[in-house]
Amino acid sequence: MKTVLVIEDNRLNMELVVDVLEVSGYKVLRASSGENGLSLARRYLPDLVLMDLSLPGMDGLAATRALKSDPATRKLTVIALTAHAMRSDQTNALAAGCDGYLSKPIDVKTFAARIEWFIAAAALADEVPN
Ligand code: MN
Repeated sequence: MKTVLVIEDNRLNMELVVDVLEVSGYKVLRASSGENGLSLARRYLPDLVLMDLSLPGMDGLAATRALKSDPATRKLTVIALTAHAMRSDQTNALAAGCDGYLSKPIDVKTFAARIEWFIAAAALADEVPN
């Protein structure tokens, strides 16, 4: 079973994302702050991290930079959850080291397939010798 860590401070967004992931067969870890998310990421090394960008305290960009600058966690796949209309969120997410982004509110019909695709793409990238 693949594990997804969701870092999201909005309770309704969290519930929706977790519901879709659990129905789709993922084990889900939840954090509502960047600091808590970092500690769960280090402890469980999830297959995917879904990172809200606007979080109280350490925001999602800072948390992503922390993950990507630590040899123990830099290979984790981090996908930003960005506000739909905010194009700057997407460029900021990629600049901080995110491997991709998904817009909020999530599209319930396609969300699980996108998650599956990100995890599969990360596994393929791991197999390429460098
Ligand atoms: Mn937020």
